[in-house]
Amino acid sequence: MTDILRNAAPLARGATLSDQVTDALRRSVTSGAFAVGSPFPSESALSQELSVSRSVVREAVARLKAEGLLHSQQGRGAYVASTRPRMGFAIDMSDVANLQKLSQVLELRLGVEIEAAAIAATRRTPEDLAELDAAVERFSAQQRHSPENARDGVEADMRFHRALCEATGNAYYLSLFNYLSASLQESIEAGRLRALERGGDSREAAEEHRAIAEAIRAQDASAARRLMRRHLVLSRDRLLGNLSPGAARPKAAE
Ligand SMILES: [Zn+2]
Repeated sequence: MTDILRNAAPLARGATLSDQVTDALRRSVTSGAFAVGSPFPSESALSQELSVSRSVVREAVARLKAEGLLHSQQGRGAYVASTRPRMGFAIDMSDVANLQKLSQVLELRLGVEIEAAAIAATRRTPEDLAELDAAVERFSAQQRHSPENARDGVEADMRFHRALCEATGNAYYLSLFNYLSASLQESIEAGRLRALERGGDSREAAEEHRAIAEAIRAQDASAARRLMRRHLVLSRDRLLGNLSPGAARPKAAE
């Protein structure tokens, strides 16, 4: 339990205290730190550890119950019900403020990853290329999967972007990517889920990954930069399109 805060989402500054605590507790459950069926720490223990009021903890625990991660047993506190959130809960991204925040994080990602792609093209090692290829194949394979596997698809996408950051040979790119992606994961999962539910797939995104990997292999920094910009802009449009309230047309995933 002492690691609960270490898992707190970055970029938490704009979030309310309740959002931050919910997020930290959610991550402690979804990371598998507690076995399913095991007791979840009490309100008083959590409020002490997180240095927040019991009412903030109570609200966070109630939200996790609504998400199906915790359940309570009469008079015996909360237990871990599942380490995987019920599909479709996500965060309510139809909320305009959330969409704005998401859009800003994605914009920041453009700046970071476009240059990372160019640097990766000049510095990539054979090991980097092997990992990029593996990530491209893994993501391609995911597009055939069902909505239940939306999370795996997102993980496969992240693996590609992580491999690219690693290929820069500059560890700060990877740290920054991890920092940004932690705050995007849920929204991307929600977007992918909605796309898959509507019969969309991630074929386009998979082809974009492949083209970027080829430019990096060819040590063509300007193509890598251009293709990464295109991929991120299209991904952002797909994601925001899928998450916008009343988005009518089925869109591709990711
Ligand atoms: Zn991608």
